[in-house]
Parts: sequence; structure tokens; C-alpha cells
Amino acid sequence: MVDESVSRAADAAGAAVDADEVIRFARALIAVPSENPGGTEDEAAAVATEILGSLGAAPHTVRSGAGRPSVLAAIGSGERPRLAWNGHLDVVPAGSLDTWRTGGPWDGSIVDGRLVGRGAADMKGPVAAALAAAAAIRRAGIELAGTFELHLAADEELAGLHGTKVLWERGLLDQDAAIVGEPSELQVGLAERGGAWFTATAFGKAAHGSQPHLGVNAITSMSRFLLRLPEVLPDLVHPLVGSPTVNAALIHGGSAPNVVPDRCAVDIDRRVIPGETDPETVRAPFLALVAALRATHPEVDIEVELREWTDAAEAPADTAIAALARDAVARETGTRPADVGFTGITDARFYINQAKIPTVILGPGSLTVAHTADESVPVDQLVAAARAYARIAVGFCGI
Ligand SMILES: [Zn+2]
Repeated sequence: MVDESVSRAADAAGAAVDADEVIRFARALIAVPSENPGGTEDEAAAVATEILGSLGAAPHTVRSGAGRPSVLAAIGSGERPRLAWNGHLDVVPAGSLDTWRTGGPWDGSIVDGRLVGRGAADMKGPVAAALAAAAAIRRAGIELAGTFELHLAADEELAGLHGTKVLWERGLLDQDAAIVGEPSELQVGLAERGGAWFTATAFGKAAHGSQPHLGVNAITSMSRFLLRLPEVLPDLVHPLVGSPTVNAALIHGGSAPNVVPDRCAVDIDRRVIPGETDPETVRAPFLALVAALRATHPEVDIEVELREWTDAAEAPADTAIAALARDAVARETGTRPADVGFTGITDARFYINQAKIPTVILGPGSLTVAHTADESVPVDQLVAAARAYARIAVGFCGI
């Protein structure tokens, strides 16, 4: 039976993962800082390219208009079915070094069974696991009927504009399924929230600071608005990602200590859930709040402008890739994973929303330690992820 031989090959691929190799790959990637902003991914891309070259995976670099590198590579026949594995090469800045207590951000130390470093979880560790999965498939002598493709993208952490988005724009996201290896603690991620970035600007009237009754204080108007900001949220709950949120993130106002401020601007981060697709519907409650404030405080004059919109994303739960992911994790960890949602925005949205590819988010490590000092990933989970990726790749691509 074809199915039985594929599942034996998937077992063999998982078993061929070399735990030391996973750690070696992860350390090599962590050792080359690729902070975003503040640097480029070139060194990390070079490390990945060297590893992929040694696997015969024919790596090549796709550069964005700004020169940012994404590395693409593939093992297998070149034919369908084709499975993409996506991870990003950039990391958030390490922050001040004296906040790292269990090892430096670029050392890749192992402390209490956890690999520590910037990107250990988000997401050089997951990238290393995918590279080690490809190495294991080759080591086990498995010839894939289809193709396992790696998309190691630049620039995910800021907006993804120079990485996976470029791959989409150049027609390179045409696989039959995708795994995005963001840290999900090996749960199966099927949805993520999107974001609407607004700027609210309050207008007042300047006056001498000793005669405030002659002016209109824009900071006071903005304060009234901000204290009631939660009222802009609709009463919605999504089963995987929860409810929408709103956060006043950045504020500017006033010109001098002795002047009544005539302007105050606030950047507002409103996270949207799947189903919230219309920017005007999301913006309307902000305008309604301004109108409500004006009923009791007619001097309030606030404009709310949409600056940027990112769609939420939701992938179907009943796809072959989701079934393979659940099965692979259950076999490698002994625990059946849950279907989960992501509160943040990931590059999965390009595969789900733009390319319309069945997709799961599946990776080792936790978002709760990503972007923090002492970022780390449990070594056991890192190795289990590599074994799961190898199994899924063989199961999806066949032999
Ligand atoms: Zn990430």
C-alpha cells in the first residue's frame, strides 16, 4: 500500500533528525545578529544558504527592491504536491545587554534544558528545526514524490514588506500547502488577528499659559477621548483569537510649558479579528465616540484617520496539512495539539489571504518569551518540531 510506505518513510524521517544538528544550526543562526530595525538579514541568509547548499537544496536569494534577502530552497522532485515552510530570518533588537541574565543574546547557551538567545523561539530556532528536517529526509535516503520548499524570509518583524510580501508579489507563493513556523508551542495555529492603525488628532486653540480660559486645551480634549476608548470595541468574540482590542500607543501634544496646546495626536492600535474586513466599519465607533463627547463638551474637535490596515486571517481546520500537523505533533510529543489562534500578525496572512493556500502556523517555543530578554526555547520542543516537520513533509509530499 502506498499509504503504508509513506507512513513508514515519515517515521524514518522523524527518527533521522539529529538533535545535535538542530542545536548546531540554531546556534549558527543566533550567532549572526539580524536585528530589525538596525541591520540586515544578509549574514543570517548566508548561514542558511550554506546549510541548504550542503543539503543539495539549491538555495537562491530573492532580494526586495530595498535589497533585503529572502532565501528559497527545495528538496524533492520539483513536482507537486509542493509544501512550503516559511520562517523569517530577522529578529527584534536584543535590547540592552545587561537585561540578559542567562547568557548573551548571540551565544546560544543552553540553560536548564532551554536554548537561550535572540531568535531562539522567534524564530531562528524554528528555522533550524526546518533545516534539520530537510537534512533528516536526505539522511534517511527518502526520495520525495513532491517538493518540500523553504521560504526563509527577510523583514517579518516590522511589517513584512521586504520579505514574504515580495515572494507573493513575484508569484512565488503557489504551493499546495504551507507551514509558518512561528512559535505556537507546537499547537496548530489556524487564525490570526489583523490590525488597524489610526491616528487621532485633537485640535484646540492656543493661548497664553496664564490665561487658559482664552484657549481650548487639545490635550484635555484628547484625555476625554482616551479615557472612553474601550467604547469603540464591538462585542465580538472569535473562537480561536478572542476579541478585538484597542491600545493608545504613542502620544504627541503641546509646544511649550507656558502655552495652551492647540494640537494633540495619538497613534492607536486597534487589533481586528477574522470577519472584521471593512476599515470604515471599524473606524465608525471612533467617530461616534467623538460625537458623544461633543454632546457634553462641544469644544472637543478630534479627527480619526486610518493609517494602515492589515487583514486578519483564518485558515480552514479540515485540510490535509492541518490533519498531518496534528498527527505529527501527537506522535512526537504524545499529546494531541489544540487548534489555536495567534493574537499577533504573522506572514501566514500572505499564504492564507493572498495566495489562498491551506496553511497552519506550527512552531516550537512560546510567544510569551519572544521579543523579551532571555528569549529561549525548550530543546526538547525544538527537536520535536524538527521531527514533526520531517514527518509532515514526507506525509504531504509522498514518496
Ligand atoms: Zn516571528
